[in-house]
This record gives sequence, structure tokens and C-alpha cells, in this order.
Amino acid sequence: MSGANRSVGQEVNLPVDGRVSVSKVSHHFVNNRESVTALDRVSFSVEPGEFVSIVGPSGCGKTTTLRLLAGFVTPSEGTVRLDDKTLVESSKGKTSQFIPSENRGIGMLFQDFALFPHLSVYDNIAFGLRHLSGNERKERVNRYLALTRLEAFQDRKPRELSGGQQQRVALARALAPHPKLLLMDEPFSSLDTDLRRQLSQEVYDILKQENMSALLVTHDQQEAMQMADVIGVMNNGRIHQWAPSYEVYHEPVNRFVANFIGHGHFVLGTANTKSNFETQFGQLECQCNCTWEENDKVDILIRPDDLMVAEEGKGTPAMVTKKSFQGAHSHYWLRLSDGTCLEAFFPSHQDFNVGDWIHLDVDAQHLVIFPHESIQAPENT
Ligand code: ADP
Ligand code: MG
Repeated sequence: MSGANRSVGQEVNLPVDGRVSVSKVSHHFVNNRESVTALDRVSFSVEPGEFVSIVGPSGCGKTTTLRLLAGFVTPSEGTVRLDDKTLVESSKGKTSQFIPSENRGIGMLFQDFALFPHLSVYDNIAFGLRHLSGNERKERVNRYLALTRLEAFQDRKPRELSGGQQQRVALARALAPHPKLLLMDEPFSSLDTDLRRQLSQEVYDILKQENMSALLVTHDQQEAMQMADVIGVMNNGRIHQWAPSYEVYHEPVNRFVANFIGHGHFVLGTANTKSNFETQFGQLECQCNCTWEENDKVDILIRPDDLMVAEEGKGTPAMVTKKSFQGAHSHYWLRLSDGTCLEAFFPSHQDFNVGDWIHLDVDAQHLVIFPHESIQAPENT
């Protein structure tokens, strides 16, 4: 993204850029004398103004990745750059370059808000602006009070605010010094669901308005898909996929990503040709450039949105084993006669009960296919 797109930024003299590049970073912790690999040759980049979310199971290395960028973790290997600055460079356990946290131009937003309890909202936001002149500081604080809709609360102490308001103060405080990058570690997880959705949308809008590069760590993949331009999926200290949400969901690069992102189950298939498969749903044709060989056994990912109720007398029989009414649609858990489990979303007027037998059709635009393994339940909860 060029500086020309930063009209808001130019107006208020925001710093341009915010390009992050992490290259082949590894980091180990020693726990009870055992070395734990928290980051294993991690590489990625964030473009200026891009909103990236890192998702993955607990302990996969998400927080360590943010701490690496913030300067709280020094890796044994690898390089981290922010625009033209090398923040850290290490090779074979020796660090040749290290810029301390306070000189990195990076803002942070955490789950526990970390506000100064004895300072007013105004003073919390002004805290990182002591280098500015009185007038400049006032202007800057007022701008971020307005952006986060906190003008009416500027004289209050954090304890006199709701959780959502406190997080907006933390956001204003993080953005006011005009960092080049904002790091967020599960910033909404202590808030209830409605407030979380509302605040995450507000934060997204503000960051886009500021054209700020941002890296959000969350275990809530719905939040990640809703907010992020790009999703990084991590497991065991490695990045498995780094791609736009749509691609991660529809074109997962491996079984881990397929299982971790969204709902979905695998059904067994046997290749008839390089791109046509015999399954319980009849023949499924893959639109991509597949190169399977005849009789190859494969697992085909079926997402809930790939399944439809078939016309009378057609389709594959399935029994409803569980149902959850969700307003406009219902979420169904289904079992085929061979025991294969599937999930589907149907409009709620197509109303079935647990124990009913229904008939299913598959409408998959492009199939996600992996070599056959014993079929596992998704790791999602
Ligand atoms: P996540 O944020 O994805 O839950 P973390 O980055 O916190 O995961 O942790 C990655 C791995 O590193 C885990 O195995 C964790 O136990 C270990 N780890 C994280 N921080 C420390 C630390 N300060 N000391 C020792 N081990 C740590
Ligand atoms: Mg964490």
C-alpha cells in the first residue's frame, strides 16, 4: 500500500509504512531442564496497513511471536525487521543486533488492559506523549478520545469504566504515540460475546481509518476471520498457512489447517480418474488441477456449507444425531449409514428432528483432498 492511500495519516502526520518481516526465527525455552521449541523457523510478513490474525491451539507459540516483535523475547536464530530497521538479528544463538522495546515504535494491547489505575482516562492516553509539546499533546489526546468515543469519560479513573470502555482507553493509549505496528494479544477475551463482537468491529474500523499495520492473536477463529485481511495458522511453533481468510478456509494447505479452521469432516473417496472420485455421495468431480491416480484412496473435506437437502427420492441418506437452532439457520450433526459423521447448516424452515433420516447432496465448488489417513474427529471445540 502506498503513502497515497494514507490520506488520514498524512492529515495528522501519522508515520507511514509499518512493513514487518520475520525471517526464519527460532526460539527455545528451557522448562524443567528440557528445551521447548516455541518458535520453529517462523517466517512471515505484514504489509503496511494490513490486519493479520494469528490463530492456533493453546501453547502453539502465538504469544511468543508477539513478544518477539515487541522485544521481550530474543530469538536464538533469525531476523525481524520493521520497515528499514532491523529489530533483532541472531545466528547460532548469538545476537548481533537488538533494538529495545521502547525504541521499536510498536504499540500493544493486552487482554487485561494494563491501564494505570491512579491516572484519569485523559492522563492514561497522554502517558506515552511526554515528548510532545503541551499543545501537540492535547491535540493528540483529544483526537484519540474522539476516535474511541471517550470524550465524556476523560476525567474518570479506569475503575469507573465498563470493561469495553477500559479496552477503548487501552486502544487510544496504544495508538496515540503513532506506532508503526499494533500488537494485540487476545484483547477481547475478558469481555462477553456481544461486547466482544461490537468492540472488535470498532477496533477494526479505527485501525483501517488509521491505516495501521496490526497483528492480532486470538483463539477465537470467528473473530480472526471476521477481522483479519490475512490469517496465520500456527501449530507446534510453526506457521502452517499464511493467507487471506477465504483461502485458509477453502484451500487449507494440510489436514491440520483443514481441521482447525471452521467446521468440517472428511469422507472417504477412491479416484476414478485424476480428478473424479467415487464417494458415498456418488461421483464428485474436482475442478482443480488434481493428479491423483486411479484407485488412490483419498479423504475429501466436506464443510457444512457444502451440504444441501436433496430433492425427494435423491441423495444420500443421513440420520440427524444432534441439532442446534441458531435463528436464521440450524446447525445439524449427521451420520451416514457407514458411520461417517458430518455437519450441515440448513435454513431453519427446513426443520428436522433428532432421529430423522434425511437425504443429502454435496455442492462443492472445489474439493479439498488429502491422501487417505484414518479419519479423525476435528480438533475444534
Ligand atoms: P500460545 O500463546 O500460543 O498459547 P505461547 O507462545 O505462550 O503459546 O507458548 C509457546 C510454548 O512456549 C509453550 O510450550 C509454552 O509452555 C512455552 N513458553 C512460553 N513462555 C514461556 C516462558 N516464559 N518460559 C518457558 N516456557 C515458555
Ligand atoms: Mg498466548
